[in-house]
Amino acid sequence: MIFKAKKSLGQNFLVDKNILKSIANSTKIEKYDEILEIGPGTGNLTEFLIKKNPKKIYLIEKDENLVNLLKNKFPENLNIINDDILKFSKNSLLNEKSIIFGNLPYNISSQILAKFIINKNKFKFKKLIFMFQKELADRILAKVNTSNYGRFSILANWKFDIEKVIDIKPNSFLPKPKISSSLLIFNPKTPSVKLINPKNLEYVTSVFFNQRRKKIKKPMNILFKNSLDISKKLKLNLDLRPQNVSPEVFYQLTKEYENLRS
Ligand code: SAH
Repeated sequence: MIFKAKKSLGQNFLVDKNILKSIANSTKIEKYDEILEIGPGTGNLTEFLIKKNPKKIYLIEKDENLVNLLKNKFPENLNIINDDILKFSKNSLLNEKSIIFGNLPYNISSQILAKFIINKNKFKFKKLIFMFQKELADRILAKVNTSNYGRFSILANWKFDIEKVIDIKPNSFLPKPKISSSLLIFNPKTPSVKLINPKNLEYVTSVFFNQRRKKIKKPMNILFKNSLDISKKLKLNLDLRPQNVSPEVFYQLTKEYENLRS
């Protein structure tokens, strides 16, 4: 390969054409849809996305060398932006027709997802199609009462219906990563519990899951002066452990936490 991959930027380029095609085919792309691709790298997935003829394609790539490579590779009018997705705030580039793709840099993939959940910038979009390390994908998909269940699944399920498309083996990438990946689709939904600030959900769940093996009595006391009243109101048994508390209850608890502060 001409381009030397940078580990610090999580560069593992997808080279398996069948997989690239199935990612591009994982959702219907209409001619009025717009695509934003995070971390296009050498443009392997981009090539397949172009064939879908969306109205627009924006690429956001942090590595300046790759930006230059992409500009040479795609002389046609793609919008190639040299920026860090974690700092990106141009919500004018996004609307209800935007489909956001990303074979995400693994070192920051959970932060990128959190950015679209907490959504401080009021991003609009139709769906997210993200690739993660399988381990993280499993945690995002985990159900209550399982060992993988925790903050990722609670946060992600607050805002999205999530479906898994495929698992992808390490040898589909160059350089080859150590573990498998999974492709997930996130379809935004109206949250069952409306929150003033979703960052509070991040905080409340962190208080519970920082001691995931302990009973929830203690974190309840940290969060609420009237923790007994709250647990009665929500019919919550304080001898449970965080892993046994459903997402819905965490959303309710966050609502109570917000009520106390407003
Ligand atoms: N989509 C390509 C590359 C995936 S590797 C493919 O499938 O082949 C991850 C890509 O994200 C790399 O190109 C890396 O340079 C880029 N990247 C890493 N950190 C980034 C950040 N903070 N913002 C935008 N792009 C980033």
